[in-house]
Amino acid sequence: MDRPKLSVVIPIYNEEKSIHELYRRLSYVLHTLCQHYELIFVNDGSQDASSAMLMALAQQDLKVKYITLSRNFGHQVAVTAGLNHAKGDRVVIIDGDLQDPPETIKDLYNKSLEGYEVVFAKRKHRPGESLFKLWTAKLFYRILTRITSIHVPVDTGDFRIIDHKVLNVLKQMPEQNKFLRGQISWIGFRQTYIEYDREVRKGGKSGYTLRKMFKFALDGITSFSDFPLKLASVSGFMVSGVAFILMIYTLYAKLMLKDTVPGWASLMVSILFLGGIQLISIGIIGEYISRIGADVRKRPLYIIDQSNIQHKTSS
Ligand code: UDP
Ligand code: MG
Repeated sequence: MDRPKLSVVIPIYNEEKSIHELYRRLSYVLHTLCQHYELIFVNDGSQDASSAMLMALAQQDLKVKYITLSRNFGHQVAVTAGLNHAKGDRVVIIDGDLQDPPETIKDLYNKSLEGYEVVFAKRKHRPGESLFKLWTAKLFYRILTRITSIHVPVDTGDFRIIDHKVLNVLKQMPEQNKFLRGQISWIGFRQTYIEYDREVRKGGKSGYTLRKMFKFALDGITSFSDFPLKLASVSGFMVSGVAFILMIYTLYAKLMLKDTVPGWASLMVSILFLGGIQLISIGIIGEYISRIGADVRKRPLYIIDQSNIQHKTSS
């Protein structure tokens, strides 16, 4: 069997400053854990020397695999490319900028041996990050937990170890807009976490521009929540309710009090009525779109963990 025990997926976007140290520390740690491992570097359209450095590494070490994407596709897609090529019994996802210390893989691995399919690494400290990033991240995960049924823990990135069972399900989720930490949480099985100290970036700068962060946040919300769509129908019903009460009042004012400006009553009633109807209609369309969205995502309907029925299951 040439199935490695452990695959490590590392997205790389302009990380020339950290690649050598990263490789050295990763190799050292993995050697102590198991002999049979693979390092899958995904070069996500780097413009610096990363690509050449990875190719050179692959030449001196057979355990190093690299995938170079044709352009910058973004972190989540880069990780997905790596996962699609990972063959290990267990797969680790780790950042390439040494913010996630490779030594932590040992704790992740040992914890997973206790029988957990997913062990994610939770940051105790997050030095070297701007207040803006810390606050927006916190706010985002608060909102996400509120409006979705999945639980994505605050203070975790994609640094984690997953079992090949989880990997197989991930591959069955062919959605275009990836939000891996949400998907993995959605998949279930036994999940737990360990804590670690996040380090400062070894060099270079964050590849997550504001635009990418915004897209990432929207992907997370729209992939796992219908809340924004529901907002239209809820506000539609509220406006209609108010419209109805006002309609009665305008009729009362016109017929009983007779102190209205000509045209006011009909104008008020029609504006409120139409506004309400429109919002409700948007809400109805939203309900259909959310169902279409669910069908288009083609997620598995359920995932079997154990069963005594002998059937060909994919595992
Ligand atoms: N990354 C990537 N493509 C991108 C942006 C980032 O592959 O478009 C990689 C990057 O090289 C790093 C990881 O994703 O290994 C995390 O990115 P980064 O450190 O920039 O994010 P931050 O830590 O600031 O959230
Ligand atoms: Mg980083």
